[in-house]
Amino acid sequence: MSDVKKTGKAGSVKNDLLRAIPKVDEFLGWIEGTVEAPLSMVKSVVRELLEERRQAILADKPIRLADLARGVLEPVFEQKLTRKMAPNFRTVINGTGVVVHTNLGRSPLPESAMEMLLQVGSRYSNLEFDLETGKRGSRYSLVEDLLCELTGAEAALVVNNNAAAVLLVLETMAAGREVVVSRGQLVEIGGSFRIPDVMEKSGAILVEVGATNRTHPRDYQAAINDNTAMLLKVHTSNFKVIGFTSEVPVEDLVKLAGEHSLPVMEDLGSGCFVDLSRFGLAKEPTVQEVVASGVDVVTFSGDKLLGGPQAGIILGKRRYIDKIKKNPINRALRIDKFTLAGLEAILRLYFDEENIFSTIPTLAMLSQSRETIDRRAKRLLRRIQKPLAEYCRVTVVDVESRVGGGALPEQGLASRAVALAPVVGTVSKLEKVLRGASQAVIGRIEDDRFLLDMRTVADGEVADLARCLGDAFLEAKE
Ligand SMILES: *Cc1c(COP(=O)(O)O)cnc(C)c1O
Repeated sequence: MSDVKKTGKAGSVKNDLLRAIPKVDEFLGWIEGTVEAPLSMVKSVVRELLEERRQAILADKPIRLADLARGVLEPVFEQKLTRKMAPNFRTVINGTGVVVHTNLGRSPLPESAMEMLLQVGSRYSNLEFDLETGKRGSRYSLVEDLLCELTGAEAALVVNNNAAAVLLVLETMAAGREVVVSRGQLVEIGGSFRIPDVMEKSGAILVEVGATNRTHPRDYQAAINDNTAMLLKVHTSNFKVIGFTSEVPVEDLVKLAGEHSLPVMEDLGSGCFVDLSRFGLAKEPTVQEVVASGVDVVTFSGDKLLGGPQAGIILGKRRYIDKIKKNPINRALRIDKFTLAGLEAILRLYFDEENIFSTIPTLAMLSQSRETIDRRAKRLLRRIQKPLAEYCRVTVVDVESRVGGGALPEQGLASRAVALAPVVGTVSKLEKVLRGASQAVIGRIEDDRFLLDMRTVADGEVADLARCLGDAFLEAKE
């Protein structure tokens, strides 16, 4: 029976459709002289388009002869080509309100850092050349003094990211020996960075002490033996233990370690040079305070609260940093010239302490008042309310932004968002269209509304955002 069906009427329609698909060369003839793109890319898009149609016909999708006409296929081709020619790696407008958003590139860099990047990126530089002696230099020396001056540390080293920093320090100082950590600090940061796993990879032996919620000095004391290499403190970053809890203050750890001539390392996660508590955030020790407390080695990220490029910063006593610098693994974890350029620019901004809340974008966003954000939200509202009136209801609402980057997990920052409630189409369609737009816009859906937290939208992005929203509604309507 089925054989009869295939060779019957339905089968011949299918064959007619297949025959109606233009050949690649025929299609190329149609568009000759109309597109500006490398021929190889044009060809691959044409092949992909025609193959899609062929597969759709074979799968009995509802396709008619008219769907294969030049007038229908050409616009689809143009759309596909535009998409293929656009860079895969591109900017997004962050309407999530998460300031240090790991998936969206963490910290946007300030102008001065971008200028440095452009300069050293497009020309030769003294990356590893000492201009005074004319001899080979060290890339690390370009930022070491700045880091030491800013933090009070004796010495410094910078590697690819903080995960690399932790790995490198543990491998250098504790491979084959024991590292004592509180059970309350064995965190998973995300992206498969887990303290116990990193420690295993470094060759260090993890010795857990205390309980999840409480660890006492006597717990560390009891774990110390001849094979102990160091005491480690890890910032719990993305979670909080509340209730009946107790952590050993870092000063006490330093004192205890000193009695046994052992070093103390602290993985700070989001190291911050300034106290953010005046903006309503919890008081966290600054990097300078941690260094001053006598911790021997401190590590933190360059692109979290510091607001710079991705990097892992290692500060500490010279005798340890010197050893870490000489570790051959260091070569595999080293930073490139772009990171160095961005980092040096950021560090220089910190010397002008009065202005960091305007010069460093991450700090500017964290410190913005609800009123400032409200004004930006209203600017967007004024641009879109009337033009979009037939598609959606636009309001400005209260929301809470997040610091992100695993820092201060429980803390919300009072903020304002533009809320769009579509009257045509669905909110999920709107979200999808904005996400896929050539200038992607990322927000979140809450109570059937699309929310754009204006804390993480730059002033310079408001006009662009208004245009994106207009385009998206035209598309979402279809
Ligand atoms: C974020 C974080 C890391 C990892 O830092 P990256 O710079 O992302 O590699 C390590 N430890 C802690 C405590 C963190 O918060």
